[in-house]
Amino acid sequence: VQDSYDVVVVGSGGAGLAAAISAHDAGASVAVFEKMPVAGGNTNGASAGMNASETIFQEAEGIEDSKEKFFEESLEGGKGTNDQELLRYLTDNAADAIEWLDSLGITLNNLTTTGGMSVPRAHRPEDGSPVGEYLVDGLIENLSERDIPLFLNSEVNGLMQEDGVVTGIDVAVGQTNQMSIQAKSTIITTGGFGASPDMLQEFEPDAADSVTTNHEGATGDGIKMAQEVGADVVDMEHVQVHPTVDQTEGFLITEAVRGEGAILVNQKGERFFNELDTRDAVSEAIQSLDEGYSYLIVDQALRERVPAIDFYESQGLVQKGETLAKLAEEIDVDAETLEATVTAWNEHVQAGEDPDFGRETGMEHQLSEAPYYAIKIAPGVHHTMGGLRINTETAVLDEAGEAIPGLYAAGEVTGGIHGQNRIGGNAVADIIVFGRHAGEEAAK
Ligand code: ADP
Repeated sequence: VQDSYDVVVVGSGGAGLAAAISAHDAGASVAVFEKMPVAGGNTNGASAGMNASETIFQEAEGIEDSKEKFFEESLEGGKGTNDQELLRYLTDNAADAIEWLDSLGITLNNLTTTGGMSVPRAHRPEDGSPVGEYLVDGLIENLSERDIPLFLNSEVNGLMQEDGVVTGIDVAVGQTNQMSIQAKSTIITTGGFGASPDMLQEFEPDAADSVTTNHEGATGDGIKMAQEVGADVVDMEHVQVHPTVDQTEGFLITEAVRGEGAILVNQKGERFFNELDTRDAVSEAIQSLDEGYSYLIVDQALRERVPAIDFYESQGLVQKGETLAKLAEEIDVDAETLEATVTAWNEHVQAGEDPDFGRETGMEHQLSEAPYYAIKIAPGVHHTMGGLRINTETAVLDEAGEAIPGLYAAGEVTGGIHGQNRIGGNAVADIIVFGRHAGEEAAK
């Protein structure tokens, strides 16, 4: 460890790793500090994809999309409350970020759909596997190639400030070696607070008792640290509950399962909602059921389009039936009702119209290939949409809206861009677009 760098990055999720690479490539000396024994944070669990429009990969598939549509649909998903300047920067720059990743050997060329988007816009690895681990592995490889140091087990516990300027960090390197490290610029990429019962209790008590999909390091440290040097926060009460979470361990079941054609049924075996409405709406629909949970229904062909289902099965989350009737028995649902539900759904898919619940996406494939599978899910805490207030240059702002010199932030630790409801796949876009940009700005 050196006692000074041009740029220090706090946290090694997607935002921090992207920031480190772009700061290095802009000529800065950089180091990354990560409190956990592993890198990647919540980004490791990112499943759906990275949203971007007008990309080379959409073009190759003949998918017509526009930056304007991406902006409008994200704004609608956020109920019009998103910070529109940040959102505009995101939707304008996501396609370029997809190409930047491609130039780093990270190729996201398989497209799917998540709730609240009208065309496939969520970019996944070629084989359709979850985006997060692939992304983190690829970014870490790029750090190694550049000899950018990444210190694990190194918790940053404060920011240094002189005359209003942030001048570096206090950090326990390797857990024991407490040091002060000087930096011209400090980038906070510590992620959200979805694993902090105290902060959830403070800002959104309704969510405090739910299971969480978050890794245990998501405790809002960067928010508190930056507040101590005068940073402002926004939207802290907006906590995203993801509709499809296993309730035993908090495993997130990727939205791609629905994007690729799964339906949700209640304990009676009936559909009850548009499965690809926005996350907040689907979560509420499940919570409103008497039983408070639901089943994703999947056929063999769908399973092959979503390799993550193999992992869910290895964790004991998937029930199987050689026929729909057998599956119904497994999950204690009336067999005739489930069969009738799936038959009706397949007719809707064929007709390209869902008269029952108005679903419009994820309707390319019928559920007709045995065996059939069910995954029991209910909502769980997934993402904290509030956080540090930043501008489009990723500068952290104080309550007067002025940039705090020397301090930048990107990713889930920031607030505003998603408004009241984040569209699945927009967080990965956020961490790459703004992480990359934070690195450029911090290196100036
Ligand atoms: P994002 O998606 O915004 O990149 P992630 O949750 O993926 O956020 O990553 C944030 C990372 O920051 C996690 O690996 C987390 O352990 C790390 N982190 C959180 N607080 C600290 C801290 N005080 N010091 C160092 N690293 C931290």
